Amino acid sequence: MSNAEKLSSFEDLGLGPDLLSAIADCGYTTPTPIQARAIPTILMSRDMIGQAQTGSGKTASFTLPMIDILAGGRARAMMPRSLILSPTRELAAQIAENFETYGKNTPLTSALLVGGESIREQKKILSKGVDVLIATPGRLLDLFERGELLLTDIKVFVIDEADRMLDMGFIPDIEKIISLLPFQRQTLLFSATMPDEIRKLADQFLSNPKMVTVEPPKQSRNIEQNMVWVERRDKKKALLELLGAQDIKNAFIFCNRKRDVDDLARFLRDKGHSARAMHGDMTQKIRTQTLKDFKDGEVVFLVCSDVAARGLDIDAVSHVFNFDLPFNAEDYVHRIGRTGRAGQKGVAYSLAAPEDLHLAQAAEKEIKTPIQLTHLERTPTFTREEVEAIAEDEDGGKGDGRGRKAGSRSKAGSKGRSGPNTRSSTRSKSQIKSQSPSRSPQKPQKSERGSSQRRDFVDNNEKIIGFGDDIPGFLK
Ligand code: AMP
Repeated sequence: MSNAEKLSSFEDLGLGPDLLSAIADCGYTTPTPIQARAIPTILMSRDMIGQAQTGSGKTASFTLPMIDILAGGRARAMMPRSLILSPTRELAAQIAENFETYGKNTPLTSALLVGGESIREQKKILSKGVDVLIATPGRLLDLFERGELLLTDIKVFVIDEADRMLDMGFIPDIEKIISLLPFQRQTLLFSATMPDEIRKLADQFLSNPKMVTVEPPKQSRNIEQNMVWVERRDKKKALLELLGAQDIKNAFIFCNRKRDVDDLARFLRDKGHSARAMHGDMTQKIRTQTLKDFKDGEVVFLVCSDVAARGLDIDAVSHVFNFDLPFNAEDYVHRIGRTGRAGQKGVAYSLAAPEDLHLAQAAEKEIKTPIQLTHLERTPTFTREEVEAIAEDEDGGKGDGRGRKAGSRSKAGSKGRSGPNTRSSTRSKSQIKSQSPSRSPQKPQKSERGSSQRRDFVDNNEKIIGFGDDIPGFLK
């Protein structure tokens, strides 16, 4: 264990009294592991790579020392002294909120430069002089190209969620932005994962960085994960059934395509649910308002694209639904991580069509555990064996089919499913299709709720949990 890890209070980290008082007002008593290790490093002016997930307290790990470093100097018009790049507008807004909270006892000022907001207002703020820019790459470059700011006085530069930047195609923009920064600066890069492209970026632009890696938060252990296999055309029906049978306070419902987000939100509203859409094609004003309404409890279901999958820190979200399994397996972890935060329990359901088997396998590989199977009462569902048989059928026809893309056929999927109700794995898709009206041998009662619903079935020895007998729902 390093010295930093032995430190158990914020006072030990070297932060000034104004910050300590703001931290105490937040109710934080102990630094998180990333804070204990990053804050002293950043205060020593070293470059740093922080491998940490959202939820680890990483925002404070760079905003606190940054405030401390900047508190000594003064802002100059159009020449900010610090730049934080964020992949999404929502995450940028959250960082700006954190900055306000932690910097409330200092005269430091910040500007949030994100797309979708009035560029005139942003120009006005810049002309007055700000200490910290919190920006998405596109809007920052736009303002730079219009001659509204100079980046030659940047002392501390932060790239947050670098792997997300990569997914979103922002690396060329980041390289361009770095070319506008002074050579003498402190650079901090945060990323949940370290793909090769991010390592290369760090090698190129950071100078002898200290690597700080913290364990991913254990939040996924609090999350009961379920997979419901249904025909694609039955997904809406299945979702409605799940929403009706669960004790839901509020939920994120993720779709892969923006048009499906709009369509599903409309569908849910037509069915009498409180649902709102959120995706990257909406104006920032509407995105911000929608998020606020969701946080305030005025909207129960936030149907969204992956723009809401990362970084957003909303406590007490009871459920996450994947209307589609994500194309990128890492996003599965980020999406379900919207629930089960701050030690609370969360529930996640994924709706998958048989042709999504490779996506389910990739998600299971990512979380290193199989996702338990759930059947529905009114919507026909498949067993995993049926889904695998369908994939095999299709592979047989096509040669290198989708079922194999994610690697070898899931061993986990065929393990421990010897219950009397599982169906033959040799049935073809057409045979299964004709099994109407319900392919599900297990029938949860509508009045039963959440995990108790499933436990009832286990107790009755009507096994509906497909993987292993000892873990009804929770990751080990
Ligand atoms: P982040 O990983 O930056 O998204 O932070 C996740 C949550 O942890 C935020 O709600 C912070 O307010 C909270 N937080 C950050 N640092 C601490 C701390 N030392 N003690 C308790 N909560 C914290």
